[in-house]
Amino acid sequence: MTNTILIGGIEAGGTKFVCGVSGLDGRVIEQIRIPTTTPEETLAAVSAFFDQAQARHGRLSALAIGSFGPLSLRPDAADYGAITSTPKPGWSDVNLLHRLARTLDVPMTLDTDVNCAAVGEARFGSGRGLDSFCYVTVGTGIGVGVMIDGLPHGGANHPEAGHIRLPRAPGDTEFPGACPFHGDCLEGLASGPAMEARWGVRAELLDADHPAWAMAAEYVAGLCVNLTYVLRPQRIIIGGGVMQSAMYDRVRQALSRQIGGYDASVRDLDMGDYIAAPGAGASAGLRGALALACRAVTGTWPDERG
Ligand code: ZN
Repeated sequence: MTNTILIGGIEAGGTKFVCGVSGLDGRVIEQIRIPTTTPEETLAAVSAFFDQAQARHGRLSALAIGSFGPLSLRPDAADYGAITSTPKPGWSDVNLLHRLARTLDVPMTLDTDVNCAAVGEARFGSGRGLDSFCYVTVGTGIGVGVMIDGLPHGGANHPEAGHIRLPRAPGDTEFPGACPFHGDCLEGLASGPAMEARWGVRAELLDADHPAWAMAAEYVAGLCVNLTYVLRPQRIIIGGGVMQSAMYDRVRQALSRQIGGYDASVRDLDMGDYIAAPGAGASAGLRGALALACRAVTGTWPDERG
């Protein structure tokens, strides 16, 4: 099968922008990692990559962007397409769609980084065959992508479940929290930077039996219990740098305990299946963005195309 139609995707993160070009099968023909520095420098490099890729391979029919946020995603909003109040220095009120449209004449769509990763997991990873699931990342920040009936959930704007409020874990009484907006929201208590601020050492350097892990698992489980009750997903896929392999069983055990003896449909969940690691690889966000671009052009997902 030859693909004459080309599409582009961007996974826009706080440390790097991963940009790629593929055919409608979603297989990446060319990709690049661009460090996230200033908006001017970073977006100029992004535009240059797609300019050069189009010169080599042909015109793109669509470009989908999965970005860190918060984002303005309502098409009728005055700032539609913008990163809004991010703690990332220099990036607040940067309108990604407007900036890229100055140099790239391609129809573009924008969604959150976690919704794009959720799409990547839905098509190629641990969400395959599921209609409704959540994708959670616990790393530099905490974000939640929500798939409902096979599509990423938007609503009035994207979900912000990383900033929910939870009861303090046992013994966690002194730490004020690290979220610049809310202090001790979930992200302020359990993200990688929050763990470093609380324990004085980077999370990945903490011993496996350090009490930090049980506390982090308690908070991640608190998120999962709320997602379970609000959305009743078929699965919760959790990735991100804080989710070391031993964390999964800790989260499963804490989640079972937090559910208590409540209704059988949640009490009897198979936790090994319900709380899952990602399966679409490190570039799930890019693959998800490319899948959204494919769907924008054809109305079908890349893995559904024979
Ligand atoms: Zn917050």
